[in-house]
Amino acid sequence: MAFADLHIHTNKSDSTFSPEEVVKYAAKAGLDAIAITDHDSVAAIPLVQEYALNYNIEVIPGIEFSSDLDGEEVHILGYFIDNTNSWFLEKLKFLQETRIKRAMQIIEKLNELHIDINMKDILNISGDGAIGRMHIARALMNKKYVRSIPDAFQKYIGKGKYAYVTKYRITPKEAIEIIKQLNGISVLAHPQLMNNDAIILKLIQQGIQGIEVYHSDHTAKGTKKYLALATKHNLHITGGSDCHGIGKGKILIGTIKIPYELVQKLKDAIRNRDINV
Ligand code: AMP
Ligand code: ZN
Ligand code: FE
Ligand code: FE
Repeated sequence: MAFADLHIHTNKSDSTFSPEEVVKYAAKAGLDAIAITDHDSVAAIPLVQEYALNYNIEVIPGIEFSSDLDGEEVHILGYFIDNTNSWFLEKLKFLQETRIKRAMQIIEKLNELHIDINMKDILNISGDGAIGRMHIARALMNKKYVRSIPDAFQKYIGKGKYAYVTKYRITPKEAIEIIKQLNGISVLAHPQLMNNDAIILKLIQQGIQGIEVYHSDHTAKGTKKYLALATKHNLHITGGSDCHGIGKGKILIGTIKIPYELVQKLKDAIRNRDINV
């Protein structure tokens, strides 16, 4: 039996793992296929693909968008996207720029609280990746302002805290459309984290093609519910660990393993679409 983990981040967004480390851990976990789903970045994909050749691991190009539906944060995954499309790369560049501006606003707020932190501290951690709160949390930890990453969110940068700044977000409809333009498959990420089933029905109307049924933050009960929902609406079923290296406290890669048949279904859907157009 072959297995896949379809939700993995790298240090091109907010994981602590480099592309090479992702591949090493994927091999250790016995995975046959992985999807790289960085936030607003596809920079890691060719690097992971190159390392993965040594281990005979299939690498699926992916993306994770944060979108906004009536104030609710909805994460949308895209699979088998064309990660070389120049129109798409321009869009990602824009989203990454808005992340930099937001990081600057967060830093200003932290400075107001007499926390000595600047953009250089953040860039030292993020490198050339898409900047996010995870990098700011790590900078706060390195400088001993907090004990842990959750502590940083709890005290300063989590929703509702003083240094929280909302991120510019596209709508789910836009995310679904972008993924469609790239000939990919759109999937609602970790639905249990938003716990709002009305939104799922709205997304189905808007053309979402799959649900991430299996996720490291889902309970057995939640998983069962989303499996039934995906089946009822004839949607693709996917799953992944959402590994952020050691960023979430423990290494999650391979803790969610889905049968490769589910990946094959995604591929078949794309192939059939190509034949039908
Ligand atoms: P951003 O995209 O910059 O808003 O950052 C989102 C990232 O922060 C995600 O990868 C989450 O895993 C992480 N995150 C959000 N809230 C928390 C929290 N309360 N504790 C730890 N990590 C969090
Ligand atoms: Zn992340
Ligand atoms: Fe997410
Ligand atoms: Fe994620």
